[in-house]
Amino acid sequence: MSAATGAVTDALRDLHARFAGVDEGELADYIPQLALADPGAFGLALISMDGHRYSTGDADVPFTVQSVSKPFVYALALSVLGLEEVSRWVNAEPSGEAFNAISLERVTGRPANAMVNAGAIVTTALIPDTPASPRFGRILDCLSRFAGRTLDVDEQVYASEVVTGDRNRALAYLIRSTGPLPVDPVAAVETYFRQCSVRVTALDLAAMAATLANGGVNPLTGDTVVAEPVAAQVLAVMATCGMYDSSGDWLLRVGLPAKSGVSGGLIAAGPARFGLATYSPLLDRTGTSVRGHRAIGTLSQRLGLHLMHNPALAASTVTLVTTADDLPSAPTGERERARYERVAVVAAQGALDFTAAERVLFALDEQRPQDTVGVVLDLLRVTDIGTVARAMLRSGLARLTADGRRAAVADPDGRLREPGGGAADPRCFATREEAVAWCTAEQAG
Ligand code: GLU
Repeated sequence: MSAATGAVTDALRDLHARFAGVDEGELADYIPQLALADPGAFGLALISMDGHRYSTGDADVPFTVQSVSKPFVYALALSVLGLEEVSRWVNAEPSGEAFNAISLERVTGRPANAMVNAGAIVTTALIPDTPASPRFGRILDCLSRFAGRTLDVDEQVYASEVVTGDRNRALAYLIRSTGPLPVDPVAAVETYFRQCSVRVTALDLAAMAATLANGGVNPLTGDTVVAEPVAAQVLAVMATCGMYDSSGDWLLRVGLPAKSGVSGGLIAAGPARFGLATYSPLLDRTGTSVRGHRAIGTLSQRLGLHLMHNPALAASTVTLVTTADDLPSAPTGERERARYERVAVVAAQGALDFTAAERVLFALDEQRPQDTVGVVLDLLRVTDIGTVARAMLRSGLARLTADGRRAAVADPDGRLREPGGGAADPRCFATREEAVAWCTAEQAG
């Protein structure tokens, strides 16, 4: 076993060993088939943004997705209709109520959010239904793409839900009576039952969570399942509403967007970090897996995964702040050195985002001597420049140029340039020396 596989799998195994003996909680029995689950089943799985899979225990055991389907069908609705349209039908406010509560807004009748049953039924009903592309086919295809493999329906659980689903039917009729249900309540609920009966494993759920964490791109298949803004919107609603009436407490203590389901599945997503899933069917009074809750809570604490946790700042962005006369390549002649003294040089490294770009621009400002003639920004060791950072650096450099200074970038691939940017583009050079030479050239003084 390699070092990484060993370390991550050990962490999962440790959680498994620690909580496998917990036998608190009850099997869901309002859907009779769910009461047949093995109360001892316990699986954990984690998938990284690079698609590395780690698991332990019953991570391959199939069970029905139940409410863990809700964020993914919400994602599909957002992809098809956009946030504004979806929000006309279903709100995004934590209800503080149980999963099957009558959480409807007073005047509009709009469900509180898409994570409680009322909102999920509406979300399902929003998915277009055409002869060429039936509603449930679209949903199954979407869930499969999130999981990275073709999923199917557990027909026995489906039949069991149909027999005992009167509360969900009642909810659908109630919503319909006040307005916001775009289709026939019977059709909406039947599709919702099928969606809840889709069979998954903990590893599937980890892949689904990892896809949301990875900005909508499945890290196993490379498939762009939903656009990045949609993935972010879904994670936001999971963070505030995903754990029903314990959502606030979960965000406080565990600090990760999550979703639980009554069959014992639980997912948590670390944005840009990992997808995590557990399966253990003994549930607490809010309908959340007891062992899953404890395992994910413990992992979050141990590894410092809480979203609001203030991690040590990423490795320093700015690696050099100086003037060109201090560089080894500087000339020795006094007159030339005087010119070199008036050129600021800042080098950066790593991936540049908003925070990193602010640091780079601040360093450029700080370092500028009074009679600066130019600045050199060395991006040779920068691995990635985000859209926001790019715009910030471009406008920072453009401001200097407008001020009559020379601005040169050591960036052979011209990553700060824009297609058709023309005169507004910063001057890019293959090496730092060339950039310095251009900035310090006689005519610049
Ligand atoms: N099919 C279940 C229901 O609607 C899902 C509930 C859940 O997983 O929380 O009652």
